[in-house]
Amino acid sequence: MASTGHEPPRLLVAPLTRLPCEPDVVRLPLERAFGVRVEIAPLAVELKAAYSLQRNQLNSTTILKMLLSERPDGVDRVLGLVDQDLFIPILTYVFGEAQLRGVVAVASTFRLREPWEAGGTTRAVLEARLIKTALHELAHTYGLRHCMRPRCVMTVASSLEMLDEKAPSFCLQCQGELHDALVGLAP
Ligand SMILES: [Zn+2]
Ligand SMILES: [Zn+2]
Repeated sequence: MASTGHEPPRLLVAPLTRLPCEPDVVRLPLERAFGVRVEIAPLAVELKAAYSLQRNQLNSTTILKMLLSERPDGVDRVLGLVDQDLFIPILTYVFGEAQLRGVVAVASTFRLREPWEAGGTTRAVLEARLIKTALHELAHTYGLRHCMRPRCVMTVASSLEMLDEKAPSFCLQCQGELHDALVGLAP
C-alpha cells in the first residue's frame, strides 16, 4: 500500500521487563520533541543474553544489539525500557544508552526508583527522571551529543542529583541541532 507521506515516523517504546511506572508517561514528551508517533508494545528479547553474572547487571550495549535485530518492520526507532541495572564496561552503571545517529536506545528505571521505595520521593519524580532519560537517549539517535549546560537535558547526568537538576527540555543550541536533524530527515 502506498504511503500518504504525511505519517509521522513511528517510535516503538518497548517495555522489556515489568516497570515501576506506566511507560505511557514518555509518550507525549517524546512525540513533542521528535515529531514521532509513539507506540507502546513489548518486544521479545532474551535479556538473559545481556546479563553479566560478575556484575549482576545487564550490558546495555548488548540490549541495543538485540533491539536492533528485533526492530519490527516500519518502525523508525525503538526505545527499550527495563527495570534492571544497566552497565557499560567502563562505567559502574548507566541510566541508559543509545546508538549515536542510530535507531535504538534503552533506558532503565532501576536507579531512578531511589529513594522512592523508601518514601524519599514520589512517583512523579521517578516519572520525570524517566522522561529526561528517554529524551536524552533518543536525542543521541538523532545525532545530538552531550551538552555543557547543566539544565539542558543533553548534559551528562552521572548521579540522580544531576538528573534532577536537568530540565526535561533542550537548551536553545541543542534544540537547534535537533531541529536541523529532524528537518534533514523529513521526506
Ligand atoms: Zn548521553
Ligand atoms: Zn544543550
